[in-house]
Amino acid sequence: MRLLVIEDEERLAATLKRGLEAAGYAVDVAHDGRVGLYMAREYPYQAIVLDIMLPGLNGYRVCARLRAESIDTPILMLTAKNGEYDEAEALDTGADDYLAKPFSYVVLEARLRALLRRGGARRQSLLRVDDLWLDPGNRTCGRGEVRIDLTAKEFAVLECLALRADEVVPKAEVVEQVWSAAFDGDLNIVEVYVSALRRKVDVPFGRHTIETVRGSGYRVAGHGR
Ligand code: CA
Repeated sequence: MRLLVIEDEERLAATLKRGLEAAGYAVDVAHDGRVGLYMAREYPYQAIVLDIMLPGLNGYRVCARLRAESIDTPILMLTAKNGEYDEAEALDTGADDYLAKPFSYVVLEARLRALLRRGGARRQSLLRVDDLWLDPGNRTCGRGEVRIDLTAKEFAVLECLALRADEVVPKAEVVEQVWSAAFDGDLNIVEVYVSALRRKVDVPFGRHTIETVRGSGYRVAGHGR
């Protein structure tokens, strides 16, 4: 899952990025309201952490603009505790939740998880392709009764393909969903992950769930088992 953190305090932003990446998210950071707004429009984020006091454009305005443009990515707003900015106002402009600074990282991550559960309705349900299943809620995977251990990135790649089962998903779209904007490497990284996934979810079970569509991308397809 890919997240956007819009926060001008660089140390706080870096701490959030590190923590959330360790938890398996891909994280982009914007230090300015305008850049953040641009990125939120441009990339497919599953949630946004948005500070209020920002250079360029404040958090309320970033939030209001996104909502006015019908971009309904879940937003967790970071409010200052000095009373100058009101939590109610955060919710009025279209934020889904708020957290007063200073906050504990553990609480932030829990709130984000709750937002992601509520936010992407399609993510709540188990994804199934034949007997292969993925549970986006607790990021577990298995085939039938057999649990399969995936790394956070492997899970994210497989989830990206399974959400669009029977469709060809180009490598560039997998990278856009699973890696952060800081990634400027080779699209063939997807190939590396797909190979690893096949060794875990297909080969041991004698299946070919993840298909390569030459020159186009990958397709996860059921074969009616
Ligand atoms: Ca700030």
